[in-house]
Amino acid sequence: SATKVGFIGLGQMGNRMATNLINKGYKLNVFDVSPEACDAMKAKGAQVYKTTQELAKESEFVVTMLPNNDIVKETYEVMIKDGVNNKTMFVDSSTVDPSVSQYVQKIVSKAGARFVDAPVSGGVMGAQNATLTFMVGGTKEEYEHVKDFLAGMGKKITHCGTYGMGEAAKICNNMMLAISMIGTAETMNLALRLGLDAKVFNEIINSSTGRSWASEINNPVPGLNPGTPPSDGYKGGFSTALITKDLGLASSVATGSNSPIMLGALAHHIYRLMCTHDLGNKDFSVIYDFIKNKSGK
Ligand code: NAD
Repeated sequence: SATKVGFIGLGQMGNRMATNLINKGYKLNVFDVSPEACDAMKAKGAQVYKTTQELAKESEFVVTMLPNNDIVKETYEVMIKDGVNNKTMFVDSSTVDPSVSQYVQKIVSKAGARFVDAPVSGGVMGAQNATLTFMVGGTKEEYEHVKDFLAGMGKKITHCGTYGMGEAAKICNNMMLAISMIGTAETMNLALRLGLDAKVFNEIINSSTGRSWASEINNPVPGLNPGTPPSDGYKGGFSTALITKDLGLASSVATGSNSPIMLGALAHHIYRLMCTHDLGNKDFSVIYDFIKNKSGK
């Protein structure tokens, strides 16, 4: 019979990831604090549970896709408080502090089950198309155990090291992404104001050493990459609020490890400022629009 999978957190990412699992033939057990999110998955054939404890006991894999550190911690504390099915493999795909993954792994293994952190990159489109990159933190055996299962939701499943190292990889990648987007935006703005043509200059960057995902795939100047958020009023994509959250995690782990992140910290505050200017729900490439001279002067 079909492998039973529990899925907790059926938001932007979670509902799409869970849908892919249903389409791959898994039997889905779901939980979310939002009744609407549960109803939508029920309509696709998932079984809705009233408690996470019951859900976990009936699942070989449990995936959590939740907003933040506190909610992930609390969800696991509650889910395992009355014991676990020792066959269950718990997978947290939320973006959280590595120390949260390490704490959760401890309490889950004490209860008698297994846990890995497996945050993702690829955004809502990657979730939709099952092309996410999973960054897995756990033992080699645990990685082997989750690999094929995660491949039902993604295309690159990488073992990053021990517990928390998936999150460490995710947070570091996103810090670099955040910085390179600001770098691209201010550079494009300068180039255009110097009189360069946007297309011509962008071709130069992308065939020389300035190239990055922000210049090549999601260039913040409207019109350079048709079909992307910058060409559609900065709608959809990866929200400024989420990159701000990820940079908060970067600041925290940088403090904890005594690592200077000059540009990461600056990027954090630039995006946070954008959030206070009502840009939190726009794609983070809206930094270009935020810094460009509105009057032309
Ligand atoms: P979201 O806010 O759309 O979804 C979160 C879901 O969790 C919601 O359905 C909410 O009702 C539910 N929830 C909240 N508290 C809960 C609780 N206590 N128990 C059960 N359910 C609860 O968020 P999202 O965009 O899907 O992101 C989820 C995680 O994935 C975050 O950690 C985020 O940083 C990360 N992430 C997001 C993206 C993205 O592009 N959206 C990309 C990569 C990683």
